[in-house]
Amino acid sequence: MSDTVLVTGATGYIARHVVAQLLDAGHTVRGTARRAEAEQALRADLVPHLADPSAIDRFSLVVADLGSDDGWAAAVAGCSHVCHVASPLPAGEPKNPDELIRPAVDGTLRVLRAAASAGVQRVVLTSSIAAVLYGVDRRGKVFTEADWSNPDAKGIGTYERSKTLAERAAWEFIAGPEAAGMEMATINPGLVLGPMIGSEASTSNESVRKLLAHELPACPDLTYAFVDVRDVAAAHVAALTAPSAAGNRHICAIDSHSLRDVAAILAREYRPKGYNVPTGKLPGWGLKVAALFDKTAAMALNDLGNPQRIDNTRVVQLLGRPLRDLEEMTLAMAASLEQHGHVQPKKRRRS
Ligand code: NAP
Repeated sequence: MSDTVLVTGATGYIARHVVAQLLDAGHTVRGTARRAEAEQALRADLVPHLADPSAIDRFSLVVADLGSDDGWAAAVAGCSHVCHVASPLPAGEPKNPDELIRPAVDGTLRVLRAAASAGVQRVVLTSSIAAVLYGVDRRGKVFTEADWSNPDAKGIGTYERSKTLAERAAWEFIAGPEAAGMEMATINPGLVLGPMIGSEASTSNESVRKLLAHELPACPDLTYAFVDVRDVAAAHVAALTAPSAAGNRHICAIDSHSLRDVAAILAREYRPKGYNVPTGKLPGWGLKVAALFDKTAAMALNDLGNPQRIDNTRVVQLLGRPLRDLEEMTLAMAASLEQHGHVQPKKRRRS
């Protein structure tokens, strides 16, 4: 692979790692953002995370919004490959579902159309396990890439609908004549933890932040497929060129841990520093009450007592190594949150 790789939504938590790993691998990277003013801070955030700081000279930023055609033709011009990472990741249910669904679905089609017209060879689309295991019966099932969420299921969240509809629309586009032979692979991450590049917190940081900040009195019965952001980025980079990746989805997560496992890791490391990390079990009604006034808690209700189990064989083969474990990703995210002032100890220990 040579030339330029476009990374959409380069300001985001995951995309920053994709950009950094592409630059480290020697590629030229063009990012997109909704605001041109984001460029200076983004460059400053990226530099300390690059193996060679001068690699930042191969990074540029252009402006494009998923809600408009403007800028996409220029964004993809001269690019051989695209990572389409941008998509709204809300902290709660939107008032109007189209706030999420339109940028996700129409925005993905905008990027794919522009890419195919510009002769891009392959697009890696950041989908999610939100497109794999929601709105369906999870009992006794280990999910694989053959599984799809049901976007029409009663009670499915708007975010999960948006990711399912966007990925479906993308595969339909790729199978059609407009794609002109362009290839696609999807990366379907679970709940992403791991270090931040820069100080901006995202929705993904909320579970660890809430535990460190003791905003939860105890841990609800939630079992997720977690994944380290550095592995998500590595999977994007590998899927751009691996011959086996084209035409395939890749569930990208480890199988599977409860929020109490995350809390136990945090408690061991952070209680001695004065953080009051809750490790007890919150009864189901506790989360339901919390959901009345906390939008993030409300989004988790579909997962309450409904564990996510996944088979990650394909992504492990793609990377040629195991994924990082829960401890590494949890402590890396906690360290970033503390470093950037998103959490502080409740009480200082006497020395
Ligand atoms: P994030 O930090 O909130 O990043 C989202 C990115 O999308 C931001 O760069 C944002 O740009 C951009 N975006 C949102 N709406 C847009 C619009 N209308 N036009 C252009 N750009 C827009 O979240 P993230 O965790 O990195 O998520 C990145 C991708 O990973 C998303 O596709 C998400 O669905 C997927 N994913 C995330 C997780 C997770 O646990 N974090 C798990 C599975 C999949 P602004 O900076 O301008 O807002």
